[in-house]
Amino acid sequence: MFEPSIENNPMKIAIIGSGIAGLSASIRLRLKGYEVDVYEANEYPGGKLHAFSLGKYRFDGGPSLFTMPQYVEELFEQSGKVTEHYFNFEKVDEACTYFWEDKTVLSAKSDPQNFANEAARVLNYPASELMDYFDHIKNIYDHSASIFLEKSLHKSNTWLSKETLTALLKIRQYDLFKSMHHANMIRLGEPHLVQLFDRFATYNGSHPHKAPGILNVIPWLEHGFGTFFPKGGMEQIPKSLHRLAEELGVQFHFNSRVDQIILQNKKAIGVSVNGQEILAEKVVSNMDVFYTYRKLLLKSKAPEKILNQERSSSALVFYWGIKKEFKNLGLHNILFSERYKAEFDSIFNEGDIIDDPTVYINISNKLEKGDAPDGCENWFVMVNAPNHKNQDWNEISQRVKKAVIKKLNRILNTDIEPLIEEEKIWTPQGIEEDTLSHQGALYGNASNSQFAAFLRHPNFSSSIDNLFFCGGSVHPGGGIPLALLSGKITSEMI
Ligand SMILES: Cc1cc2nc3c(=O)[nH]c(=O)nc-3n(C[C@H](O)[C@H](O)[C@H](O)COP(=O)(O)OP(=O)(O)OC[C@H]3O[C@@H](n4cnc5c(N)ncnc54)[C@H](O)[C@@H]3O)c2cc1C
Repeated sequence: MFEPSIENNPMKIAIIGSGIAGLSASIRLRLKGYEVDVYEANEYPGGKLHAFSLGKYRFDGGPSLFTMPQYVEELFEQSGKVTEHYFNFEKVDEACTYFWEDKTVLSAKSDPQNFANEAARVLNYPASELMDYFDHIKNIYDHSASIFLEKSLHKSNTWLSKETLTALLKIRQYDLFKSMHHANMIRLGEPHLVQLFDRFATYNGSHPHKAPGILNVIPWLEHGFGTFFPKGGMEQIPKSLHRLAEELGVQFHFNSRVDQIILQNKKAIGVSVNGQEILAEKVVSNMDVFYTYRKLLLKSKAPEKILNQERSSSALVFYWGIKKEFKNLGLHNILFSERYKAEFDSIFNEGDIIDDPTVYINISNKLEKGDAPDGCENWFVMVNAPNHKNQDWNEISQRVKKAVIKKLNRILNTDIEPLIEEEKIWTPQGIEEDTLSHQGALYGNASNSQFAAFLRHPNFSSSIDNLFFCGGSVHPGGGIPLALLSGKITSEMI
């Protein structure tokens, strides 16, 4: 059983924010023997990973898809705990059910061979060709993950290792200089499959016609490692990590917004919380890096080139309590737009949402019966959305709601509006305000160029000593697995 050795190492670390990355960093730093204090503006841990109830329905507010559970398990294992005593999850056979306007419905199985068999049955696409595609993306993962995801890209030892040099020699095979869409057109060709795999650009909030083909690795996380569902819903991820961190001795301070990082001779020496100065040997910011500079480091020179990078897309979410069960829907469902490129052009170029958006529906009570009353379903209905740049979200939400309802009625052959008995809407503006994420971006910077991975902020400050960063807005990027890894990289660096 791990015993933190604070007597031997009384160094104090202040972490700003208890998002999933802040929780990961707090546990790892505590395990190294540091005295860790986490200051969180909200009254709960988890940031974007939060939950709420509407009447008798429970909803996860942010992420709904859980991949790479090993990064959560690792935190319990390294603490000498049995994961199942804190956190339980199950593997899901069906990754997603896809619907097209031409009435094609494809159940994408988590397992690649089952997926390929299903694609052969529904789309008449040779299973062996889809298996070749999976082999290709597995190869990208095997050669690139440990470099791009598990190490700092801003330390020379990452670049001088044999593993990195071998990977760099193979980079042309990874479609780095083609877009995801272009690579999928060449490798798959079949329009439904191209759209299906293009869709993974949204997993880091990017445009499939601009994001580099190397990002076609993303579906490997889902189909190589599988998709999972936490018992009790997504909220159990931060809740269980918060419990673990507290048991290890991490101190949490909720309703405690940090208003300044205190500097002395270009060194971080603490934080100011609600006007009170708290000294610390090192400061880790899990706050969006943009606002860390713009709000907490007003007197320091900010890395403008990095901060001015294009941000990832945001989301418009409708949480609906639906008083009916839909047997043809699964845990994750996608109803595709017929104008997929126009949808992303509108998001990234015009700051708007087209009138036939792709609709994602997550229904957690398919697996967690208590999340909705009998005979009912809790629908998390999400549409990809532009960044918040002072649009009128009230007008856009109402317009998009009508378009979504029309699409659902058409594809599911139903009349959905009278079935909605509870509703809440989360707009990009709300996401920005509730999680202090610049422009409501879900995943920090967009990956709309080959160089995006190198233009994320490092996990440390090169101009301020003892200041570190973790979270979706810095290396290696957004999404639960990467945010957990950023906490790991940061703590290893410290
Ligand atoms: C609608 C939606 C759907 C998503 N879907 C998925 C999905 O299905 N799968 C997936 O893997 N990812 C998904 N994501 C992305 C994922 O939620 C994020 O990448 C991840 O949760 C980011 O974690 P984080 O630790 O970087 O930051 P955050 O969750 O943003 O946490 C930052 C924390 O810092 C706190 N904070 C900020 N400033 C201060 C301050 N000055 N003082 C004190 N505290 C402060 C905030 O209150 C917040 O709690 C989704 C996100 C959203 C919003």
